[in-house]
Amino acid sequence: MPPAIDRIGPFQYRRFAPCQPPVEMTRHAVLIAGGGPVGLAVALGLARHGVPSVVIEADDSVCEGSRAACISRRSLEIVERLGAVDDFLARGLPWARGRSYYGDREVLVFDMPAEAGQKYPPMINLQQYYIEQYLLDAVERCNALRPGMIDIRWASQVTQLDSHAEGVRVQVENALGSYHVDADWLVACDGGQSFVRKTLGLELAGTGYEGRYVIIDIELASASPTERRAWFDPPWWKGSTVLMHRQPDNIWRIDYQLRPGESAEEALAPAQVQSFVQRHLDAIGEGHLPWQPVWTSVYRAGAMTLDSYRHGRVLFAGKADHARPIFGVRGLNSGFDDADNLAWKLAYVAQGRAGDALLDTYSSERIQAFHINAASAMRSTEFMSPPSRGFDLMREACLSLAGEHVEIATLINPRQTHAICYGDSPLSSPDDAFACGPAPGAPLQDVLPGEGLPHLSTAVYAAGNYDFTLVLFDDDGTSSRLMHEQLQQAGSPVRLLRVGGAGDMQDGIAVLPDPCGKVRQSYGAQAGSAYLLRPDGHVAGRWLTCRAEAVLMAVLRAVQRSTQIDTQMELPQ
Ligand SMILES: Cc1cc2nc3c(=O)[nH]c(=O)nc-3n(C[C@H](O)[C@H](O)[C@H](O)COP(=O)(O)OP(=O)(O)OC[C@H]3O[C@@H](n4cnc5c(N)ncnc54)[C@H](O)[C@@H]3O)c2cc1C
Repeated sequence: MPPAIDRIGPFQYRRFAPCQPPVEMTRHAVLIAGGGPVGLAVALGLARHGVPSVVIEADDSVCEGSRAACISRRSLEIVERLGAVDDFLARGLPWARGRSYYGDREVLVFDMPAEAGQKYPPMINLQQYYIEQYLLDAVERCNALRPGMIDIRWASQVTQLDSHAEGVRVQVENALGSYHVDADWLVACDGGQSFVRKTLGLELAGTGYEGRYVIIDIELASASPTERRAWFDPPWWKGSTVLMHRQPDNIWRIDYQLRPGESAEEALAPAQVQSFVQRHLDAIGEGHLPWQPVWTSVYRAGAMTLDSYRHGRVLFAGKADHARPIFGVRGLNSGFDDADNLAWKLAYVAQGRAGDALLDTYSSERIQAFHINAASAMRSTEFMSPPSRGFDLMREACLSLAGEHVEIATLINPRQTHAICYGDSPLSSPDDAFACGPAPGAPLQDVLPGEGLPHLSTAVYAAGNYDFTLVLFDDDGTSSRLMHEQLQQAGSPVRLLRVGGAGDMQDGIAVLPDPCGKVRQSYGAQAGSAYLLRPDGHVAGRWLTCRAEAVLMAVLRAVQRSTQIDTQMELPQ
């Protein structure tokens, strides 16, 4: 085995020893196999809802090698709720612009949507080892407040699994020995080669692609801005596509497509890496700068998924349930979405606040998201590495005409990841005829109501609120007082946020002033309109004129208890 890496630039790896816990009599609520970014995000999400978990992680530290670099706005919104966004923003490099070149001509400059009022940039670049470390720091902060909430067992592997109707029993092995852990639920976040998936005899199905990419991360003191650059068929590497991204600490990611007949082994040979990188840097005017390789690897594109992310007491998340092309950066970004969708549902089920049918909707919603993401990612992949002569010709035509024709240039615009709407979700209530605003299934659309005021999302998640929120548009406070009373009377856990009025709290109700009506306009709302948000920020229902009864029914539907009226939660007469 190669010696463990100590540091990459200023990033210092911390290594953790395995432990051999005393014989466990406890049956845990949730066991997570794999403490990569998705496993950690699930653990943090559960902890926010008060559900403890045990994480079994095979490695003794955060990841090594070229992994995720581009983190989307939607992921930042999720990471904010996990308590790690400040670190992501402090280190990550925000960007919104990309440039594409054909031969040596620039044929497209694109800007990702960066509307005023958004709290976060459309994308930041941040190495995955930082991402995992910042999530770990959040775990430590969480454990400092509530000791034992997230119990990570490092350098330990899940090696056997017995799943039954009431729960799971797994065998854990490490350098000190082996032991069993029992749990009500197992979340498999054990990556692309998932042991849990294979043990259950499950396979990913979908499309694999022939195109292979060499991924080279280098240290280079370049002053070029943080933009995504793509060179199609560049004169210095004819017949290939080359991509370049800046990451923090002067680390640059260069990807290039292997040409037909080129072998991965040859491409990764140090002399070949040296020759390619130097030619590329010479061609873009940076050949005089000193550089050194950090990681090299080869990547193959594919879009594959399990056909269900729930198998009895076992749930799959992240790379364990799907594989995606890296183009459009949907890998970890969709893993964060898996974690966000799963954490509140599993917490509700574990706490007896919802029936376990809610977990089936985790599977159906995220598989729907997979297909939306995969379609965009595969279109990008077909453009980046054409799978046939036909695609090749189409790409050549597009690229040759793009310099002169703006409408053709837009065809080369890479489809970067975007927040997914769970259309037709069984958790959504029937919609009213709003002129605009996020429809049921869509995620909260952030708005900054005015200078010095918090964003809508900040107000929604203020004071550690991670349950359902009713955003009620009400300037004078009358409808919110009545709604508050009725929700309380029914014992509903829904938190009320009044948009309109002044101050940040009135009559025990949180208030977000909307002096210029920006929130109201963006949400197509009138006095008395309301949006019900799920804990993951997706809209569960909206009403032009809202009644408490409709809200309570919508909550029951959103926790899949539509046919049982909770004894705690009686509908107002
Ligand atoms: C070159 C490259 C570039 C990428 N760029 C991007 C990008 O820009 N944006 C993006 O969103 N995504 C990107 N991705 C994808 C991203 O890296 C993955 O989606 C992400 O790592 C998935 O996280 P995960 O937690 O599901 O799986 P992993 O990161 O694979 O973590 C799985 C964990 O499980 C552990 N494990 C495995 N087996 C066991 C076992 N039996 N017992 C206990 N533990 C186990 C492993 O040690 C590991 O820590 C990129 C990937 C690559 C390769």
